[in-house]
Amino acid sequence: MVTNKKDIRALSKEQLRTFFESKGDKAFRGDQVYAWLWQKSAHDFVDMTNLSKATRDMLQNNFVINHINVDNFQRSNDGTVKNAIRLHDGLIVESVLIPTATRTTACISSQVGCSLDCKFCATARLKRMRNLNPDEIFDQVTAINQQSKHYHNRPLSNIVFMGMGEPLMNYNNVIKAIDKITSTEGLAMSPKRITVSTSGVPKMIKKMADEAVKFNLAVSLHSAIDEVRTSIMPFNTTFPLADLKDALVYWYEKTKQKVTYEYVVWKGVNDTQKDIDALVTFCKYVPSKVNLIEYNTIDDAAFVQASKLSIDKYIRTLEQNNIIVNIRRSRGKDIDAACGQLANKS
Ligand code: SAH
Repeated sequence: MVTNKKDIRALSKEQLRTFFESKGDKAFRGDQVYAWLWQKSAHDFVDMTNLSKATRDMLQNNFVINHINVDNFQRSNDGTVKNAIRLHDGLIVESVLIPTATRTTACISSQVGCSLDCKFCATARLKRMRNLNPDEIFDQVTAINQQSKHYHNRPLSNIVFMGMGEPLMNYNNVIKAIDKITSTEGLAMSPKRITVSTSGVPKMIKKMADEAVKFNLAVSLHSAIDEVRTSIMPFNTTFPLADLKDALVYWYEKTKQKVTYEYVVWKGVNDTQKDIDALVTFCKYVPSKVNLIEYNTIDDAAFVQASKLSIDKYIRTLEQNNIIVNIRRSRGKDIDAACGQLANKS
């Protein structure tokens, strides 16, 4: 239900303390409520059992908690779970639980739709409706954490911002959410287990390098040749590789963290020796590794996964140049939950 009441989670701890004081109550009530919201992820004021009934009613009269709703979910035969998440205004995003033998990873969305136009990505075909709020990003993590406990008897081990949207185009909210996820006053998860994936927004990568909390950075590179990259990721004209390189050099100087390049090899797009050599050169700018991602089809005949031969050539050349390369098999493809397939189909 849409109401005019403000979401209480838009308030900082300090603002909550001030609010209680303004009501003639003790400031520390603000700390209690803050803990309910961010440590215990309460969905409702009635759950805040260390507050009096009168206080809970007063909160109810002044605020809402716009919690996300898992509208429905699908479970793949490989254990991957795709959730359709309904936001308070009725819009839908998807988030995914990806289990392996040793990890359970939440793949979460940062925007409703996406404003970028990567030709090979299903999400790119959805108009960007709005940015997610910090609490909407946070709620995806707690919802998937519950699923992880339910299906695997263990809490979430990792979080990747690889769902819908471009996290660096919703920078402030993503950083605020990460702060709540990592803070001891929130979920207290290690930032080392969080990866923000970007198609490469240089200015924002630099900004992120200056943040106090140090998490991992992945860049969806897909080509290290400007003309090729522009043909599949048109925003590359605005953020060309030279600027991306500068930003990554800055990132490494500041964080001393290796960068991961995500890379799909397509037939006739980026499968020549020239493409491989360009990637090798790019990888030498800063310590990095390459994740070769399997292409997940999205009903576009222009894109076909390259031959095994071409992919093997990539792997061999990268390894010969001492660049770490991992092969990332798709997960949850049968339910359209794999990389680039999130498109609110269900
Ligand atoms: N906008 C951010 C976050 C999305 S992450 C980014 O671009 O990094 C989603 C990842 O899946 C990106 O690496 C993207 O390039 C990749 N991807 C998109 N479509 C894909 C497809 N059809 N098959 C495989 N990977 C795809």
